Amino acid sequence: MNLLYKSTRNAEKTVTASQAILKGLAEDGGLFVPENIPKLDVTMEELKDMTYQETAYEVMKQFLTDFTEEELKHCIESAYDQKFDTEVIAPLVKVGDTFHLELFHGATIAFKDMALSILPHLLTTAAKKNHVTKDIVILTATSGDTGKAALAGFADVPGTKIIVFYPKDGVSKVQELQMVTQKGKNTSVVAIHGNFDNAQSGVKALFEDKALEEELDKDGYQFSSANSINIGRLVPQVVYYVYAYAKLLENEEIQSGEQINVTVPTGNFGNILAAYYAKQMGVPIAKLICASNENKVLFDFFKTGKYDRNREFVLTSSPSMDILISSNLERLIYAIAGQDAKKNTELMELLKTEGYYEITPEMKEKLNDFVGGYASEEETEAAIRETYHSTGYVMDTHTAVASRVCKVYRENIKDNKKALVISTASPYKFAKSVMTAIDGSYGTMDELALIDELEKISQTPVPKAIEEIRNAAILHTKECNADEMKKTVKEILRAEV
Ligand SMILES: *Cc1c(COP(=O)(O)O)cnc(C)c1O
Repeated sequence: MNLLYKSTRNAEKTVTASQAILKGLAEDGGLFVPENIPKLDVTMEELKDMTYQETAYEVMKQFLTDFTEEELKHCIESAYDQKFDTEVIAPLVKVGDTFHLELFHGATIAFKDMALSILPHLLTTAAKKNHVTKDIVILTATSGDTGKAALAGFADVPGTKIIVFYPKDGVSKVQELQMVTQKGKNTSVVAIHGNFDNAQSGVKALFEDKALEEELDKDGYQFSSANSINIGRLVPQVVYYVYAYAKLLENEEIQSGEQINVTVPTGNFGNILAAYYAKQMGVPIAKLICASNENKVLFDFFKTGKYDRNREFVLTSSPSMDILISSNLERLIYAIAGQDAKKNTELMELLKTEGYYEITPEMKEKLNDFVGGYASEEETEAAIRETYHSTGYVMDTHTAVASRVCKVYRENIKDNKKALVISTASPYKFAKSVMTAIDGSYGTMDELALIDELEKISQTPVPKAIEEIRNAAILHTKECNADEMKKTVKEILRAEV
């Protein structure tokens, strides 16, 4: 069966999966969604014995129906290989009375690797399929994590180039080092004299520049984006929910058909939306628990049905969740509006003009699968400290938000279902926050020294991704003013033709 995709803002037009991946965002500004969520056609009993790669094929073939078996398997094998520091790709670890699904064993030790290591392959396959012969140039503005994960994913992928812009003084030392030491002939990293907004608006202007598009077209290039709303990032994220359930079954932690609860540390709403899709595919998930930090727009939304971004933006110790507009929520709004593109468009227009919208009572009823929760900075620190003292397990700040929310939910609701916590980053990536949460006296030490301390107390070796940046050569030194981005892009691409 051929599954087609529609924009959340247009009821008429359909595109294939590969076209949706190539386009990223629909021309009307909407997000691509499958016309229906497909069901798994293998049983959990069968999935139980499968590797991560085999599971990925079973899940992704249902969504990407215009990819051949050979193409899809090639994408999967190229993505989930030795870049990961464990053969199982996404290990399931028992921590006290909960299960942590560790999604941080890829090249940049955060969960974005799960999707960004396969997106380049999906994109180049989609290009071939649609007779795009030009090289694809990925342009990205980053506030830290996405840039590095995209660089690592696209490095040396034939037919692609990637240019990442970051704010010179707006990222952490570790994040900057991770980017400027990136290898790969097709990678470029540029520091902007300005903030993240300048970099982001600059990239947006380049995407909308028709004259530049024509010029690049002559040179054999076309722009694309690795943005988190690309369906090519969402579909690979469904895989690990299916995989985790099957592994719980294999380890006899649950019985066949037994429901579990899943808690996801949430920012842009991509990861938890993938869990919602996994549930609809047939994974026995009861509650989808959406964990926010102090930027708790989503918690308020699930409680009241009102989405309100008009509030103070809080900088927290879980920066990848510091978000007031969760772009992927639009896909859920569209679903609970009964796939009504008109209704969804009205609400999204309100969000744009007023920063606020409210869903109808009928729509709110359809949110029963979700529970919202949040953790303050103190609660997040306490979760790291208490978990370390009671189990010896060290978790990062993002995971700690989810861990705390999961615990409070279980205690308040007296819900004893098995609990899965999605673990999105290695504690090594946020060593300073993690170590000071465990013991305030670490606060005086610098980040790199704390990495060694973390190794001692956690008894898990320093990941390769961290070792590498300690010794690696600086390969990228380009800088430019925010108004010189176009010139810089041309220079980079010209130098290589
Ligand atoms: C991006 C990110 C998140 C948030 O995921 P969304 O899909 O945006 O909700 C959580 N934790 C970490 C470490 C991340 O990098």
